Amino acid sequence: MPAAHTALIIGGGIAGPVAATALTMAGIDATIYEARPADPASASGIGGSLALEPNGLSALRIVGADHAVRDAAIPITRSIMSIASKPGREVPAPQGLEPRQLIDRGALHRILRDRAEHVGVRIQHGKKLIRVDEAPDGVTAHFADGSRASADVLVGADGVHSIVRRLIDSNAPSARYLGLLGFEGLADDAADTAALEPGTMTFAFGRRAYYLYWKRPDGRIGWGANLPSSPYLRLKEARAVPADQWLHTLRAAYTDDVPGARLAAETKSETLQAVGALHIMPPVPHWHRGRMVLVGDAVHAPSNSTGQGASLAMESAIQLARCMRDLPDVPSAFDAYERLRRPRVETIAARGAKIGRAKAPGPIAQRMMRLLLPVMFKTMNLEKTMAVEQRYTIDWDSPVEHELNAEISGETVS
Ligand SMILES: Cc1cc2nc3c(=O)[nH]c(=O)nc-3n(C[C@H](O)[C@H](O)[C@H](O)COP(=O)(O)OP(=O)(O)OC[C@H]3O[C@@H](n4cnc5c(N)ncnc54)[C@H](O)[C@@H]3O)c2cc1C
Repeated sequence: MPAAHTALIIGGGIAGPVAATALTMAGIDATIYEARPADPASASGIGGSLALEPNGLSALRIVGADHAVRDAAIPITRSIMSIASKPGREVPAPQGLEPRQLIDRGALHRILRDRAEHVGVRIQHGKKLIRVDEAPDGVTAHFADGSRASADVLVGADGVHSIVRRLIDSNAPSARYLGLLGFEGLADDAADTAALEPGTMTFAFGRRAYYLYWKRPDGRIGWGANLPSSPYLRLKEARAVPADQWLHTLRAAYTDDVPGARLAAETKSETLQAVGALHIMPPVPHWHRGRMVLVGDAVHAPSNSTGQGASLAMESAIQLARCMRDLPDVPSAFDAYERLRRPRVETIAARGAKIGRAKAPGPIAQRMMRLLLPVMFKTMNLEKTMAVEQRYTIDWDSPVEHELNAEISGETVS
């Protein structure tokens, strides 16, 4: 028998629908409460693209959403790193893994929510959690519209600014702003990028700011900018600034970069969107308390340099459901979940913090990077670094006790 019968999932982004689907597969009745309204304009306006790593695809396979995601995504088969507009170098990748998939965030949300509804999950929109009442045998969530809902457990999948994190521990750390605002735009195929192959993504360290770009199936170039900005702007605030004004700022930031200057110059304001400030979550001391638990960015948001935020969120959602399925009570399920997940997500977050620091190198550091990169790529132990992250799979069908016992006896766990 599962550790609980019913679950309230707060947040219908990425971790929320995956957790709800996996909990339903584990025999637990799950309902999602999402703060955003249901109207399609708001869903499609979420904006931006997300790259999912092979481990994220592997998590999606468990909840039956991997095919739909691949169908809607662009496979990225090759990555290039370029510093100060010099010809880029191919980034080595572990062998035998499927390519990362680049997908529109709104499309991913729709696929994950459709999948959750398909297995019987109910999704309620316009439900912003503001407070929780706790009892020994359950929780009651209170929403901003005056409604409430009760269940055996509450799962906080409410992102980096999680309210559930603070309800679990009022002293919990807040997400740390990295000083970068994200933008995504579309440029017509410019001379500088004419030779770009579809499926190649270039990560470029420009003179003043980092950016990345790729060729889309329609021939245009998609590009993402990480603009240094000391005032912190929430997504709503960034979107309140006219796109023309942002384009002006971006053109100045990338004016000395190839092809950054052309990409910014050829982007029309109607294709430019702010996609959110970049954050990381410092380690969270308490992942759960009583009948409340955290998943996804609410508890472990690594730097976006890792490319792992969404993939880790999905893995955690599935491991939580597996622990709830196999362990006899809520405290042991939540403890086991944290034990299985914390080391992995904190190791990846630590790697991301190191890369994040190198994102805006000065001219001397850029020269050093150019010199060191070939050596680094040659001597890098791919199996110990990238492959550990990307080959990870969850053995959904095997009882979680096996994995916990293997961990205690010191055996390597997948
Ligand atoms: C610019 C940018 C680029 C990124 N690129 C990548 C990438 O390429 N690859 C990658 O893997 N990751 C990337 N990430 C990180 C990735 O977006 C996150 O790791 C992922 O979205 C985490 O999913 P989540 O479900 O935990 O949180 P979210 O996706 O943030 O979802 C949280 C949901 O909770 C809802 N919510 C919040 N508060 C409440 C409340 N009080 N009540 C009810 N609902 C609430 C929100 O409306 C939202 O729908 C990027 C992030 C940014 C900002």
